[in-house]
Amino acid sequence: MKKIAPQTIDTLLSIIQHYHKDPNRQADLDLVRRAYDFAHTAHNGQTRRSGDPYIVHPLAAAHILANMHIDPVIIAATLLHDVPEDTGITLEEIEQQFGEEITSLVRGITKLGKLKYRGVERYIENLRKMFVAMAEDVRVMIIKFADRIHNLQTLDALPPQKQYRIALESLEIYAPIANRLGMDNIKGTLENLSFRYVYPKEYERVKKLRQEKLKGKEQYLQEMVKRAEEEIKMAGIRMVSIRGRNKRLYSFYQKLIRKDNQVAKIYDLVALRIIVPTIADCYATLGILHNVWKPVKGRIKDYISQPKPNGYQSLHTSVFAEDGEIVEFQIRTSEMEETAEYGTAAHWRYDESGHGRAAKREIQWAKELAEIQKDILGKLSDLEEIKIDFLQTRIFVFTPRGDVIDLPEGATPVDFAYHIHTDIGNKCSAAIINDKIARLDTELKNGDVVEIITEKNRKGPNQDWLKFVKTHTARYHIKSQQKNKLSGWFKSVLPKK
Ligand code: MN
Repeated sequence: MKKIAPQTIDTLLSIIQHYHKDPNRQADLDLVRRAYDFAHTAHNGQTRRSGDPYIVHPLAAAHILANMHIDPVIIAATLLHDVPEDTGITLEEIEQQFGEEITSLVRGITKLGKLKYRGVERYIENLRKMFVAMAEDVRVMIIKFADRIHNLQTLDALPPQKQYRIALESLEIYAPIANRLGMDNIKGTLENLSFRYVYPKEYERVKKLRQEKLKGKEQYLQEMVKRAEEEIKMAGIRMVSIRGRNKRLYSFYQKLIRKDNQVAKIYDLVALRIIVPTIADCYATLGILHNVWKPVKGRIKDYISQPKPNGYQSLHTSVFAEDGEIVEFQIRTSEMEETAEYGTAAHWRYDESGHGRAAKREIQWAKELAEIQKDILGKLSDLEEIKIDFLQTRIFVFTPRGDVIDLPEGATPVDFAYHIHTDIGNKCSAAIINDKIARLDTELKNGDVVEIITEKNRKGPNQDWLKFVKTHTARYHIKSQQKNKLSGWFKSVLPKK
């Protein structure tokens, strides 16, 4: 392990000072220092599994957020996040010292509780709590992510069994949630840290494979960067930056699985990312690149006019480089870059334009999930099922009016129909996908425009739909209709009283 300078309250404050230029800066810095002193005293004498004094942990989590330029109020709460759970100090005492806002964040974290691994039910309970916490205040999740990242960084101090479970939970629950919140940078960190604990052999294999694939690419990528730079400059666009970006190991691994291990089919192992000032510049740059290199058919993606539901915006294109190599370009503005990296957390970053602190925002989908889980999550007993619905790879399809509907991969028009409304699901008879009539069991693809044809007099869903639906909402409603019918039938054959 690399030896790095120890983190202290002073290193923390000096990072914050760099980005935090508010007029009440001093007050906020004092707040962070007071939170540190308070936590330091509270945890005094406690040690972590590694033998380090306990304060090292909240301090490290706070550094992770400071490096993301997160609001000092959240950082103060991060320093205090384990106090009520691990010391004799109560939330009331914290409230007297630090007021309502910080206390509510600490309370949120405390509610999520310490990691307790007791099989599937505990997982589900944790997941449910997380959704509720997110719906109430997404800042709690930001703290939880920092907490988890540091726990993963120090995982070696734990017994192997525990390492595996923490890493698995991070990979399968935390990272997908970070993804749904658009926090790519946190998602990537969680995955990178967990991958080798969960799939050690695959980790080694994929790492070697990536090295081999990257070998020899350096040279022509540099030439492409130079060429792109010249062409963009000549067109009068003031490019902010261009740089190569390696695909993260875990995303590479996942893509390998999706592509049946055919490495040749992975085009974005290295992507060249171009940042330009405006949206118009993005489209102009796309045209310039296509003028120099031939684009690969079907690989142009416009996430600027149709952002992903998590807010991600960018133009993607793959082009044929020299010797038939395929290289992906990603074109975006600085603002889109920030949203892509930090997602929801970007709202709590220090605002350079001087607007001050962003207001607390509620995350619509988290609220919806919290609603859904009341309905369904309680009836589930299998983590696999939850993952299928909420956390697996998503596709984004559109209503004829252009609303984005977010569904799991492999979803069908029936899933789509139930997502829109239970009645539409119960009465659907066919679908129109991209202007063509389609069967109800057709697998939907990213970007499809879907319209549902309903049959007014239809009595209810077809039980055969259970064979192909992918979402729990659909499955749940189809089954419950069946139950209603059955109980109706029972009533009809039972002797009347
Ligand atoms: Mn903690």
